[in-house]
Amino acid sequence: MQRAFNFGAGPAMLPAEVIKRIQDELFDWNGTGVSVMEIGHRTQQFQELLTNLQIKLRKVLDIPENYRIAMVTGGAQGQFDAIPMNILGSKTKADYFVTGTWSKKAADFAKKHAEVNIVTTATKSGIPARSEWKLSHDAAYVYYCPNETVDGIAFHEIPDVGDVPVVADLTSSIAYAPMDYSRFGLAFASAQKNLGIAGVTLVVAREDLINNPKPYTPNVWNYKVQSEQNSSLNTPPVFAIYVMDVMVDWIIAQGGVEGLGIVNRRKVAKLYDYIDNSSFYVNHVEKVYRSELNVPFNLANNEVLPKFLAEANAKGLKYLAGHISVGGGRASLYNAMPESAVDQLIEFMADFARRNG
Ligand code: PMP
Repeated sequence: MQRAFNFGAGPAMLPAEVIKRIQDELFDWNGTGVSVMEIGHRTQQFQELLTNLQIKLRKVLDIPENYRIAMVTGGAQGQFDAIPMNILGSKTKADYFVTGTWSKKAADFAKKHAEVNIVTTATKSGIPARSEWKLSHDAAYVYYCPNETVDGIAFHEIPDVGDVPVVADLTSSIAYAPMDYSRFGLAFASAQKNLGIAGVTLVVAREDLINNPKPYTPNVWNYKVQSEQNSSLNTPPVFAIYVMDVMVDWIIAQGGVEGLGIVNRRKVAKLYDYIDNSSFYVNHVEKVYRSELNVPFNLANNEVLPKFLAEANAKGLKYLAGHISVGGGRASLYNAMPESAVDQLIEFMADFARRNG
């Protein structure tokens, strides 16, 4: 059966090999005689999966030893509240870069817990230069979203903010290419784009930052408690964690994040090249701030967008509509999107432009 290509922003497509392995292992997981969906989270087999998954993640993502790992629920938006609760400590201020939909929401959520200072606000085409940033030097942390999924805006460097710990929302960019985790105070990502399916959120935190959570922090979101208890304080989302494990094995088989980074950058460069050389499609983001995962675009004549989406859909090129807040089209090219699918998309876009330009 020919599978469709899911260009949606998330939940994203999974590699066919990952789905096949899940299918093979589903009925009898690991010789237990039960499926992983039914297994107790405190069984030796599942606890071993959790421990080994952390070891693999540490290796694949190159997470330094002095960072703790926790798998929690509540998605990325849950962490928008949990982060200030866990790491404000005795400080009251937090700095936020607002570069798109998700960092704006994170800053809004944080206002319940902290005095939020907006360092800078992006425009539709990019991020203001460092000389315009307003950093407050007594902030507990500086928050940013390296890849804004809706707006297609990205920081290609971790912002230089001095000694203040940097918090990064990697929900749409985790494991996509190598990243220097030693430069983060805390990084987090929901799994449903590059690490599997919805239900589990990975949190990687420098251990000295999570020792003093607010007393009102729910235990299930207390990063210190969860990391000390192998993310099993309560029943974790066992199936989503298992899928993450299968996905991490797949990432390793692709040559790790280094291998994926090479292919991912080639995929996205092709698409931007095509868009930039076309008079029918346009991407409004300045080249240095363009997302390497989510490519929003407008058509010269946006009235034909429904036709564009319907024809693409009929060809198995699915979910290309932009986020409802920005309209237009958007192609999300996460790890599982094959390069050949990007070639097919470009071919379709060119053919559509010829017929409708
Ligand atoms: N941050 C980013 C960068 C995202 O792309 C998303 C989801 N698209 C979220 C946060 C919200 O994630 P969740 O639905 O898991 O809360």
